[in-house]
Amino acid sequence: SGRWARAMAIIREFEENCGTPIGKLRQVADAMAVEMHAGLASEGGSKLKMLISYVDNLPSGDEKGLFYALDLGGTNFRVIRVLLGGKEAGVVKQEFEEVSIPPHLMTGSSEALFDYIAAALAKFVATEGEGLHSPGRQRELGFTFSFPVRQTSIATGNLIKWTKGFSIEDAVGQDVVGELTKAMERIGLDMRVAALVNDTIGTLAGGRYLNPDVIAAVILGTGTNAAYVERAHAIPKWHGLLPKSGEMVINMEWGNFRSSHLPLTKYDQDLDVESLNPGEQIFEKIISGMYLGEIVRRVLLKMAEEAAFFGDVVPLKLKIPFILRTPHMSAMHHDASSDLRVVGSKLKDILEIPNTSLKMRKAIVELCDIVATRGARLSAAGIVGILKKLGRDAVKDGEKQKSVVAMDGGLYEHYSEFSTCMESTLKELLGEEVSDNIVIEQSNDGSGIGAALLAASHSQYL
Ligand code: ADP
Ligand code: MG
Repeated sequence: SGRWARAMAIIREFEENCGTPIGKLRQVADAMAVEMHAGLASEGGSKLKMLISYVDNLPSGDEKGLFYALDLGGTNFRVIRVLLGGKEAGVVKQEFEEVSIPPHLMTGSSEALFDYIAAALAKFVATEGEGLHSPGRQRELGFTFSFPVRQTSIATGNLIKWTKGFSIEDAVGQDVVGELTKAMERIGLDMRVAALVNDTIGTLAGGRYLNPDVIAAVILGTGTNAAYVERAHAIPKWHGLLPKSGEMVINMEWGNFRSSHLPLTKYDQDLDVESLNPGEQIFEKIISGMYLGEIVRRVLLKMAEEAAFFGDVVPLKLKIPFILRTPHMSAMHHDASSDLRVVGSKLKDILEIPNTSLKMRKAIVELCDIVATRGARLSAAGIVGILKKLGRDAVKDGEKQKSVVAMDGGLYEHYSEFSTCMESTLKELLGEEVSDNIVIEQSNDGSGIGAALLAASHSQYL
């Protein structure tokens, strides 16, 4: 019928505009490497902030002792305790507790938020076993704080802005370590913040601890970001002393990457304009878990409105932004049943669309595939950009150096169509010989442990 043809034409046009042929991916990877150079050359030199993390030595495995960590800025707030036993013993003991942040504290005052965090930490410290902590020694903490921060040292950093539903005006511009330290003092908790990092840096540190070949970390979760180890002399905007290690970890903030080579559609443009941060985080908006389901919803709405895909009436629920979450999308995409009954039940339960034919369900799976494939292939191109910047995208003089990328985040972990596609695209881009030496290593919540490890490698007792 005419309706079906119109709906299919909408999908075909969308697919065309989402296209990521290999040549385009190479252009994206090149553009990523170019922007990395520009962001390292000068402050504000690129959309890529290429933030200096002040982490110039990553864990070596020799770290010893009891360390704490806090992880704020992901889906959950966590307190973590790690007992490190050095080269032989490794992580001897590791405990954590998840604490939810009451929503009113996410939009209240800085003091109220940090008092709550300090109290949760104090309660956790109180459960520490006998004899774990050396008397006379101050407890030390790594603070994973996954919001944009302008750091001035390994343990100071001013909050640039809140994201992800937090909005506490009086904390913006403040040193978040100072805020936490004051709150700990108010309740008499004697603890020193030894390192302030974000989740990518934490994941990189946790990954390096387990595998010395780890050179970068990528987060594919609600948002997306990457960090990697750069040679300190390749950072023109760094005017400080060259670190002894000769290295510096860079927080790319790659979610903000954009390039004329990115395949953007009118659905992406509308999503961006209507978002809380128009014009920003364009790479993130076509790749990460917060947005993939929403892109699918927007195309479905268009099909409903212009091709009566779901019948004469446009389903009301389909008009609600962000109602279709990425986990719903991946459940539909992964539906292996012959009648696509998972697709049917998601449409019914979430969008209140009761009767869908198999043919319609197949079209919806195809739509999920188009959106996920674009995101996965562009993520792979981003990784190749980093490898290019480091000269690790080709075999040099027959020399085989392993490059391991530590990967974390719910999107990568749970959306196997996405992760499989990302990995096969990496192979396609790098060729067999090189890709044999590139490994993606999944790190399950390595960022918390990583922060504890960085507290250890930046301890005042070294
Ligand atoms: P965060 O990024 O907030 O630190 P996670 O790394 O756990 O948290 O990632 C959570 C995100 O991962 C969710 O917002 C969602 O977008 C994505 N996600 C979680 N489960 C799935 C799933 N089953 N399929 C696809 N995406 C998922
Ligand atoms: Mg996280």
